[in-house]
Amino acid sequence: MSRGLDIAILYLSDRRVAYSSLAFHMLKGYLSELGARTAVYFKEDGIIAEREAPHPSKSKIILTSLPYELMYIDLVDMLDSLSIPVWRRDRREGPIILAGGPAITANPTPLLDILDVVLVGEAEPVLEQIVDAVEHESRERILQELSGIEGLLVPGYNERVKRVYVRNLDDAWYPIDQRIPKDIEPVWGRSFMLETTRGCARGCRFCMEGMIFRPKRDRSFQKLRSILDEGIAANRVGKVSFYSLAFFDSPHAQKILEYAVSQGLEVSVPSIRAETLTRERAELISLGGQRTITIAPETGSCRIGEAINKCIGYEGTMTAIDNALEGGLRNVKLYIMIGFPGETDEDFEETVKLVEDAAYKVGSSGGTLKVAVNPFMPKPVTPMQWSRVPDPKMIAEKMRVLRKRASMKGARVSFYDPKWAVVQTVLARGDKRVGELVVEWARRGGRLGAFKSVARRLGINLAEYLEEKPVEWTPPWHEIVEHPYAGLRMLRFEYESLLRSIS
Ligand code: SF4
Repeated sequence: MSRGLDIAILYLSDRRVAYSSLAFHMLKGYLSELGARTAVYFKEDGIIAEREAPHPSKSKIILTSLPYELMYIDLVDMLDSLSIPVWRRDRREGPIILAGGPAITANPTPLLDILDVVLVGEAEPVLEQIVDAVEHESRERILQELSGIEGLLVPGYNERVKRVYVRNLDDAWYPIDQRIPKDIEPVWGRSFMLETTRGCARGCRFCMEGMIFRPKRDRSFQKLRSILDEGIAANRVGKVSFYSLAFFDSPHAQKILEYAVSQGLEVSVPSIRAETLTRERAELISLGGQRTITIAPETGSCRIGEAINKCIGYEGTMTAIDNALEGGLRNVKLYIMIGFPGETDEDFEETVKLVEDAAYKVGSSGGTLKVAVNPFMPKPVTPMQWSRVPDPKMIAEKMRVLRKRASMKGARVSFYDPKWAVVQTVLARGDKRVGELVVEWARRGGRLGAFKSVARRLGINLAEYLEEKPVEWTPPWHEIVEHPYAGLRMLRFEYESLLRSIS
């Protein structure tokens, strides 16, 4: 039954990326099931509709997702290209702009003068109430209704918000229909996406996702199996892609993997914790047709590993690689992070040694080691949120050394540009002034080279967002979102004392 609503779902990437996203299928499918009259739009060469639909500016509300900070640029581009005023104060009519996603769940502050509504947390618990609110005619009334919904921050209507999340995953609505138009080849190939777990209980001190998706929640085996059976039949695919932050941390991961393989399905397992990869599990993954396994030791230094609460280290990584290779997996991908606060030359050397030896081990058995290297970034809502950003020149030099030595052992190394890490940190730890910077910078093309000059022109001192902050400093996001401030401060002290005590 149509409720005669008019909701525009605007995906700020192209159709290929959208249809590869479980969150996209959930939003589209759940709104349709709720009887909302929706249209879906993508950002390709301009804004295009999924099928014939009115211009999105004719809808009552535009829903969009901002999983990464750099997508704030796409948001401004989108509003400009739709001729919708970018600043909230200039929108007395036209659609309400509502955004959610990890980046603004952690810190909505930079976009508070741009967005009408911020969804802080997960979408499933609030979608039905949003659909009900949009039944009202006036913009003013809809905003009032939305401001009464837990998890929705409506600037000008409420001032503080609590993160909202699904309590029991078995009860959450699931997008069984993940059909993809024939002309689109999704990023990970045609498969059914199955989310086993949401959140992660490991508590790595640099990890924003681990913090903002707490608590860890698992689907039961019965639920996983019934979703998988239905999904495979409905979408007519022969592959399942599992979704979770740390796959084998689910008590049912191995069992559902065994079940998928027993059904003759191909499998795709996401990044896993190294210590959870046994030989038996590697064999199963390999039987399911996967050839590469991804693990994220982050560092080869036990000292840094202890301090960041992710102590996998040399032994843990090598054991996981042995298990992977003996279980029939051919290639390994490692995620490495460099520039942690307190990281010494010795710590870095241990990381380089880890990568060299891993490359040699994987190469000797005929496979390839890929290494993705990221600079440390102090993300909001983590115990590291007070830390400084490492000097990009120092990171670039370390990356050069790592690439040279790892390549000589046959590794294929890719890097995230430390200059982009600086930009990302400014947006991630930003306040309302950073919102001004985002708008001006987007309008000047959003290229790296223009970032600093736009900031200078606006009189914004970027160092304020990049430097070490004293623990007395309360970050702006804690003023508006009920994140666990005291707990994070305590973990930050622990990080420092661990660094001092472990030699
Ligand atoms: S880094 Fe991985 S294991 Fe650690 S908290 Fe984040 S998701 Fe969990």
